[in-house]
Amino acid sequence: MNVFSHPEFDNHEQVSFFCDPKTGLKAIVAVHNSSRGPALGGCRMYPYATDEEALRDVLRLSRGMTYKSALANLDLGGGKSVIIGDPRKHKTEELMEAMGRFLETLGGSYIAAEDSGTSVADLKIMGRQTSNVAGVSARKGFDGNPSNGDPSPATAYGTFVGLKAAVKHKLGRTDLTGLKVAVQGIGNVGYRLARHLHEAGAKLWVYDIHQDQMDRAVEEFGATPVSAEEILTLPVDVVAPCALGAVLNDQSIPKLKATVVAGAANNQLEHPHHDEALMKRGILYTPDFVINAGGIIDVFHERTDHDADKVRAHVESIGETLEEIFTRSDRDGRPTGAIANELAEERFQHIPAQKDQHPESLAKAG
Ligand code: NAD
Repeated sequence: MNVFSHPEFDNHEQVSFFCDPKTGLKAIVAVHNSSRGPALGGCRMYPYATDEEALRDVLRLSRGMTYKSALANLDLGGGKSVIIGDPRKHKTEELMEAMGRFLETLGGSYIAAEDSGTSVADLKIMGRQTSNVAGVSARKGFDGNPSNGDPSPATAYGTFVGLKAAVKHKLGRTDLTGLKVAVQGIGNVGYRLARHLHEAGAKLWVYDIHQDQMDRAVEEFGATPVSAEEILTLPVDVVAPCALGAVLNDQSIPKLKATVVAGAANNQLEHPHHDEALMKRGILYTPDFVINAGGIIDVFHERTDHDADKVRAHVESIGETLEEIFTRSDRDGRPTGAIANELAEERFQHIPAQKDQHPESLAKAG
């Protein structure tokens, strides 16, 4: 298995492998870039078929976090970790404690948060062995409501702010009354996004693979339920993918009737060039790693200041970042995804190494 010459290596600063035969833990931590601060990113547990698959995933995800944090103006670098195993079969308290010991050996260069396959409870178990975990403190949320550390409300609010910025830019409207929006995936983020939209007067169409999730949106928001085939092809103003990745592809893009795509799902473009395909069709694509940064912003503030008003203002800055991306895209005639990548690189490259300037509270708070 190649590491330095791996196609996804992209000059990662640090890749650490950990094995604990007593608990069965096999894990990889990747730190892509720490020029803006310590690397913060989710710890994913997944039954990878091969070590190669796990390495590829952690390298791609870790790089993505560098870009996301830079565009969210956070003093954070990009990193991610993966635990190789089925969370429903192999997850034990001992294994999570071993993961905590592993994180502690990294001396704060990487801070773990929840991801698919791990929960607040798992992070709390790791936290018995290390302070380098995030998203675990009960506190007042950005909206003034109690929060258990779950970043989904902040992600949904940031997505709502970003969707409004895209609608203003593309459709020239600030009043969402009667705006037609199709939401794919009514889970933690999609449900809350739908609520924000409903409260702003938008008309909703929804699809989820789970009927009960859809029923809730129909009852509470008067949404219209549609099929899997219909959700991306409806004659609406906005499509909001909030379920899975790779939904914007050669098959779906020619069928889209919406002129704005703005949703929280990670990795919506099947391939990077699909942002260009969207632009050519006159569709404004809101880069996913910009619009869905509310959660990481919330987790960052958990470890620094806990000030609800500050978190809210920071999440709302997603709208300004997007406006900058849309304006540059119009000016240069280039797709929004490519512009977002460039803007992120401007923010994390060519700045002096600043390990000594990492906020103490961030490295130590737990
Ligand atoms: P979730 O698991 O709570 O919700 C996902 C929903 O999508 C579920 O209701 C599921 O039933 C549904 N779904 C699955 N496959 C589907 C399909 N083929 N068609 C329609 N619906 C389908 O997850 P979430 O936390 O709401 O996250 C949603 C997306 O946003 C994910 O891509 C996630 O990576 C991304 N994201 C989430 C956060 C966060 O704070 N939760 C932060 C950044 C990005």
